[in-house]
Amino acid sequence: MVEQENGVAQRVSWELMGEARTLADRLGVRPAALILGEGSADLVAEAFANGARAAYVADHPALTPFTAGPHCDTLIGLARKYRPEIILLGATTRGRDVASAAATELETGLTADCTSLDIDEETGMLRQTRPAFGGNIMATIVTPDHRPQMATVRPGVFRLLQPLPDASGETITYKPKLDASALPVRRLKFEPTSDEGVALQSTSVIVAGGRGMGSAGSFEMLEQLAEELGGVVAGSRSAVEAGWISQRRQVGQTGQTVRPLLYIAVGISGAIQHLAGMQHSDIIIAVNKDPGAPIFGIADYGIIGDARVVVPALTAEIRERRAAAGGGTLSVAAMSPETAGIEAAGETEWEQE
Ligand SMILES: Cc1cc2nc3c(=O)[nH]c(=O)nc-3n(C[C@H](O)[C@H](O)[C@H](O)COP(=O)(O)OP(=O)(O)OC[C@H]3O[C@@H](n4cnc5c(N)ncnc54)[C@H](O)[C@@H]3O)c2cc1C
Repeated sequence: MVEQENGVAQRVSWELMGEARTLADRLGVRPAALILGEGSADLVAEAFANGARAAYVADHPALTPFTAGPHCDTLIGLARKYRPEIILLGATTRGRDVASAAATELETGLTADCTSLDIDEETGMLRQTRPAFGGNIMATIVTPDHRPQMATVRPGVFRLLQPLPDASGETITYKPKLDASALPVRRLKFEPTSDEGVALQSTSVIVAGGRGMGSAGSFEMLEQLAEELGGVVAGSRSAVEAGWISQRRQVGQTGQTVRPLLYIAVGISGAIQHLAGMQHSDIIIAVNKDPGAPIFGIADYGIIGDARVVVPALTAEIRERRAAAGGGTLSVAAMSPETAGIEAAGETEWEQE
């Protein structure tokens, strides 16, 4: 299901569309987009460009602005009429709300917060994998007896496909039986959050701090590093629980899933629940004073040292190089251990996996 606001789709919807395309190819069926809401026909071309081969469009005043009830009823109606094998939704506030109610009504299974999806070669069933038991095991769940198979996936788990602007497909119009004048819930006002940190998924550089930062004030040095790199600051759950950073910026199993080009983990041990949210980042740099910290197990580059020494040294070096380069963006490659000049920090050393 494509999640949209004022005709603008959430990025997670297209991430899921790409994955739906892969799954549909394996099953030999057609990947389709469910586009709900007034004026949603405009999103059809975007759905085709992102992998859909069919678009089911339900355009009705009761679907705008979003409230869960009419979306849920429409999804149920579509599922009963067209009998899809699989329905995927973003594990967003809206997606979770609609998916759980629809799965209950459809009397089928729903796996929330999947981190990977696959098709079982023998049975053709959807294998839905997600962390379980506090993230200590990965459980793969199937829905053998009921259809559709339903799953939610958090933003950032799947990559966006390269869009194909000229792609086309079949558009099917669906008329939901809804009464806009009889909705039990109405949206009176919409106030967007002012914390831009919630958009961690769309940023290419993240500087994340953990308990090893020691205090809220130490996050200021992470802000400065992030600013030099054009990135944003995030944190581990321990940092959030200590009140050093907003929960909206928490990375991990119960926070956000991110895959930036560069993830710098500072004073973060690398608990499995944190890794669940960032392990697919392109380049991971870990700064930790403990050489045995598990984060070094997945880091591309490790800096063993005190954050209070390493981070200001990194920031100063990057600032200097940017100034020398005329203030432009410093490429991630320019931050390799060989070139970063961190030796000036004395007790710090670089290690590469
Ligand atoms: C169900 C469940 C869900 C969870 N969800 C999440 C989640 O979404 N995200 C998440 O992050 N965690 C989550 N957790 C918590 C997780 O298990 C860890 O407790 C948490 O990630 C640890 O955070 P941390 O690495 O900041 O702290 P710690 O584990 O305490 O690590 C601090 C690190 O800082 C290093 N350090 C200390 N001082 C310095 C210094 N001066 N310079 C450099 N390094 C230093 C230490 O060597 C250590 O490695 C979850 C746990 C459960 C049970």
